[in-house]
Amino acid sequence: MANVVKGVVAGSKGAAVSLETVNVPDPGPDEALIRVQACGVCHTDLHYREGAINDEFPFLLGHEAAGVVEKVGGNVSNVASGDYVIIAWRAPCGTCRSCLRGRPWYCFASRNAKQSMTLSDGTKLSPALGIGAFAELTLVDAAQAVKINPAARPEAAGLVGCGIMAGLGAAINTGGVSRGDSVAVIGCGGVGNAAIAGSRLAGAHTIIAVDIDDKKLEWAKGFGATHTINSTQTDPVKAIQDLTGGNGANVVIDAIGLPETYRQAFYARDLAGTVVLVGVPGPDMKIELPLLDVFGRGGSLKSSWYGDCLPTRDFPVYIDLYLQGKLDLDGFVSETIGLDDVEEAFAKMERGEVLRSVVVF
Ligand SMILES: [Zn+2]
Ligand SMILES: [Zn+2]
Repeated sequence: MANVVKGVVAGSKGAAVSLETVNVPDPGPDEALIRVQACGVCHTDLHYREGAINDEFPFLLGHEAAGVVEKVGGNVSNVASGDYVIIAWRAPCGTCRSCLRGRPWYCFASRNAKQSMTLSDGTKLSPALGIGAFAELTLVDAAQAVKINPAARPEAAGLVGCGIMAGLGAAINTGGVSRGDSVAVIGCGGVGNAAIAGSRLAGAHTIIAVDIDDKKLEWAKGFGATHTINSTQTDPVKAIQDLTGGNGANVVIDAIGLPETYRQAFYARDLAGTVVLVGVPGPDMKIELPLLDVFGRGGSLKSSWYGDCLPTRDFPVYIDLYLQGKLDLDGFVSETIGLDDVEEAFAKMERGEVLRSVVVF
């Protein structure tokens, strides 16, 4: 039996999203039907709408969600109806070459629902990142549903499902930030500020926030930045070196993903330091660096996919830290909106007015 709900659909490249009737099948053997309670608006949703991810329109958008399991299929044992979950877009398969090497956080064949959600005329929808949670109900593989403490409010908890986890993990999992480190974060939107919050959680001594917008730098202070640099006014490489004894930071996180910011990150780190790229570059971008500098500066140049997280390991931990008052997830919730406000939320996001708009049901 299909369940009929409203969902936010991107119908064609560049066109405004619309609220459509969506048929959501009952769960198959390995699937879970989730009643969505809140879902954040992420840049990736906008990238889908712009055709920058792939051409598999129409898309059912939304992928930063928390909700309650409505029904599960017959093979499912990790969750049951009534469980409070965050939906993950990484659900390790256990059998791909990365899982078999003991590195499930890189899983190359992450699990998704086998059945399709459809428009009322039967057209199959492509759910954003295998989720599609700008809808009252969504269908996922049960392994994508990660149980968390139900005391966490869904507006805040859902954000851990994508952008906030990407930032926390860029610092803690990929960058390996630990006690006493110096860290610089370039770009203080949702992901960058989560990297700042993660660096504080990990015990970094110096946390330098870089942005071109003073409002975002103010937000960064709230999440734990010890110093801020407006890179329209000051050379950020020189400023980061000046704040770190002339050496550069141990870890520099590029949460923008432009050649210019990557170059800044490359030169703003100390010798043998680490660069983490978590901002997603565009397909036409290129970078040229003197190879002697790549060798001579040593260290590591890493990319962070979804914060290299393992959702079943990481989501419950960060929710517990939130409930203990150690991680300010509420600070990322700039506003709560309705399902028909997503298009306007994209505009606010592009204007840099919000960290996250969150759809609540
Ligand atoms: Zn795998
Ligand atoms: Zn996202």
